[in-house]
Amino acid sequence: MKKYLLLLSLFSTLVFTQTNIRLQVLGSGGPESGDKRASSAYIVWIDGKSRILIDFGGGASLRFEEAGAKIQDLDVILLTHLHVDHTADLPALVKSSFFTSASGQLHIFGPDENKFMPSTEDFIERLFENDKGAWQYLGDHLDGSASLQLKTHTIEDTRKPKVVYTLGNLRISAISVHHGPIPAVAYRVDIGNKSITFSGDMNGDYHTLGTLAKNSTILVAHNAVPKGTKGVGAKLHMTPDIIGDIAQEAEVKKLVLSHRMLRTLGRETESTKDIRKHYKGPLQFANDLSIYRVKN
Ligand SMILES: [Zn+2]
Repeated sequence: MKKYLLLLSLFSTLVFTQTNIRLQVLGSGGPESGDKRASSAYIVWIDGKSRILIDFGGGASLRFEEAGAKIQDLDVILLTHLHVDHTADLPALVKSSFFTSASGQLHIFGPDENKFMPSTEDFIERLFENDKGAWQYLGDHLDGSASLQLKTHTIEDTRKPKVVYTLGNLRISAISVHHGPIPAVAYRVDIGNKSITFSGDMNGDYHTLGTLAKNSTILVAHNAVPKGTKGVGAKLHMTPDIIGDIAQEAEVKKLVLSHRMLRTLGRETESTKDIRKHYKGPLQFANDLSIYRVKN
């Protein structure tokens, strides 16, 4: 009996000390209006706290509230790239922090510059910096005077996974991905032995995502274009065939499809068929506020 109780207590300890990780989709849509979805945004919940934000496009701010997320619980914001549908609600989030107990440093990561886009550090300065920012009245979040300070980090082009942030058992890695002429990165969030990889917008030309996502518990891939897309769309985004190929190469345990647009909505059966040519694991199409348990 004593032995049984000891085993039971050991089992409970193991079960209850497991980190509880959930992925929540805030925005499952793209930049067009009419999809009735917020633009790209995700939260990683760790033990009930909204710790990591990935992208924050239009409509994400309202979804953030609806999800019950708290800015004071955020450690990191990961921007896959600086297009409007991935960043537009950022000023709203920063302003909302004034009415909360948020304090300390909030780290923002994002890609480097090229001739089409500023670096992430420049981007944040152009938004908020004293005297020159579009919302310069929020410059106190950069100059040390507000209780919440934004600490921006630009990620240089990297074709191998690069660890950009660690805290306890949390590790965040990034890799460059091809999104037409726009600098873009994919992220992998590892928490203990569980992991979520976020493709962001990309078309697969750099062949980097499969390496980053290797054996991920969940891969969030952007389903922005349908089968047979050519031209500009194919330079910017993965067709379902490419998504399936990468998911299979990376042997991910689950595939979540997001960034759904009018051109892919309603074509889920067709997209699934193409993905299934390569990837046989579990697959789900995301909606705003969808939640996924991250478990091996
Ligand atoms: Zn996008």
